Amino acid sequence: PFDVLVVGGGPAGASSAIYAARKGIRTGIVAERFGGQIMDTVGIENFISTKYTEGPKLAASLEEHVKEYNVDIMKLQRAVRLEKKDYVEVELENGAVLRSKTVILSTGARWRNVGVPGEAEFKNKGVAYCPHCDGPLFAGKDVAVIGGGNSGVEAAIDLAGIVKHVTVLEFNTELKADSVLQDRLYSLPNVTVITNVATKEFTGTDKLSGITFTDRETGEDRHIELQGVFVQIGLVPNTEWLGGAVERNRMGEIIVDARGATSLPGVFAAGDCTNSPFKQIIISMGSGATAALGAFDYLIRN
Ligand code: FAD
Repeated sequence: PFDVLVVGGGPAGASSAIYAARKGIRTGIVAERFGGQIMDTVGIENFISTKYTEGPKLAASLEEHVKEYNVDIMKLQRAVRLEKKDYVEVELENGAVLRSKTVILSTGARWRNVGVPGEAEFKNKGVAYCPHCDGPLFAGKDVAVIGGGNSGVEAAIDLAGIVKHVTVLEFNTELKADSVLQDRLYSLPNVTVITNVATKEFTGTDKLSGITFTDRETGEDRHIELQGVFVQIGLVPNTEWLGGAVERNRMGEIIVDARGATSLPGVFAAGDCTNSPFKQIIISMGSGATAALGAFDYLIRN
């Protein structure tokens, strides 16, 4: 059996594996797609100490760094079940069962897509999901935010300080964000809020140049020209496979303490799959280090 088995090969998992292996303990990492979300990212400008890098390049250096250590890397493998017996058992889709004294869950998350024509085509060409990451790319331009919940309204407030104009598109008749956020939003001069509309299509040629949406009351279509759209309709943690094995919150995020420990002794978690309030590369790596040190501490006490 492993001492530490990491499930997930994004920034959090790579960091966990390196920190664990550096303690000289038996470490494994199983990942469906090594690199995780950064494989879908083009420019990264907020990975501190690196002015600019690109997702696939960062993913390659994560893997190279993990390979410096004695880590058993199992790629293209999906975990489907976790259960604690004498050891913690992780079952893979191919039927194999891995056993470990401790497990670090770092299965990340995925952005919920609108699922209309043009969205996939213009991803990274005007269609964006992360305002902290991509906001500055739209300085002085016209953008829209889809989604009027807390994350959408926070994104709109953030973007209003950078871009020329922000249009917020909300499917329901009212915004769902907290009222303090709505007050702040409505106080801004360069924001327009349009409610009760459904996004119909993202349009453009080589890059995004507009969005078409339908008024849900009249059924009429409207089109606006813009250079960017931020989709803010939810970040879904990849934790469905865990069922009730560890405690999760209403959003499905794994609840962890300051040491990265979950409700199940010996099982830790890190990165975007947890209830960490902010989801970023540097934050995931930090929490991966925390979870590995937490697991090591657990091993020497048990
Ligand atoms: P992830 O990167 O999601 O990795 C999860 C890993 O778990 C993957 O290896 C996945 O294959 C694996 N996995 C999932 N389920 C299973 C399973 N059942 N079994 C086995 N393996 C599994 N952040 C920044 O700081 N700066 C940016 O500029 C930036 N830009 C972004 C742009 C885009 C388009 C996106 C989508 C995100 C961006 N982010 C950015 C956010 C950043 O990518 C995430 O915060 C970070 O990748 C989270 O790392 P993680 O390791 O927790 O999870």
